[in-house]
Amino acid sequence: MSSDLHAPSANRQRATPLIVPGKRISAPGFDYRDEALGSRARVALFLATEVGEGGRFLKQALRQAFPGIEQVDRRMRELRSMEWVFTYDADPEDQRVRITTLTKIGLYIWDPDVPRPTLGRISAVQSRRIFDRDRVCTICGIAAGERYAPDDDRTAQLIIQHIVPLSVGGSEDDSNLHVVCLRHSGGQWAAPESREQVQRILTRFDGELDPRARTQFLSWVLRGQRTFTPAEQLWATYQALSPAERESVRDELARRLESQD
Ligand SMILES: [Zn+2]
Repeated sequence: MSSDLHAPSANRQRATPLIVPGKRISAPGFDYRDEALGSRARVALFLATEVGEGGRFLKQALRQAFPGIEQVDRRMRELRSMEWVFTYDADPEDQRVRITTLTKIGLYIWDPDVPRPTLGRISAVQSRRIFDRDRVCTICGIAAGERYAPDDDRTAQLIIQHIVPLSVGGSEDDSNLHVVCLRHSGGQWAAPESREQVQRILTRFDGELDPRARTQFLSWVLRGQRTFTPAEQLWATYQALSPAERESVRDELARRLESQD
């Protein structure tokens, strides 16, 4: 490897460089250290400006650049739903070391002027129709803007995605499109980390689901989509309202409960 590499980590016996830069871009006015950007945007910015298209890097490079951020790998994988492409291969000199190549820089998500991720060939009309049909992430049921957990500040963004990717013959029909949150987009099924999840699902299916829950889960699996109770469907519609509209729904529902007493 050439000598214009970033410093290798000191505790490795052999000097596998953390980053071999490719074609880097400049992003005037933006800095990946800026915590106001949010961690996914910061990771994107780091990759675009420090690694560059065609650049190769080790996971440790990300961990070093973002020491305080949990699951920085996941933030990187989420970029795949925003037209970023990564390829992976083993270091020829050490098969245990996985090298990631930034094959393509996707949407500049750190820039607020860049539009939300869309699937280029889907019309606005079709996209509206799919959002109206699904309303929530069809994988986990989260609504747009909703928090993933009460103690988690991250909120869900919803996008439309092909169920069967176009690259393997999926169609553009409504039946092959669904709404997912960014956490559940990006073909994470292809990540090696998700292989251990397979065993976890089977174990929990056997150990934690009662017969009725098993039947329900199986029907979701076969359908490729979960179903929602009427209350969950209403919740999703409610979540999509403006703050003022939500307030008027809250007031009206409270009045109804009072008049029942
Ligand atoms: Zn989800």
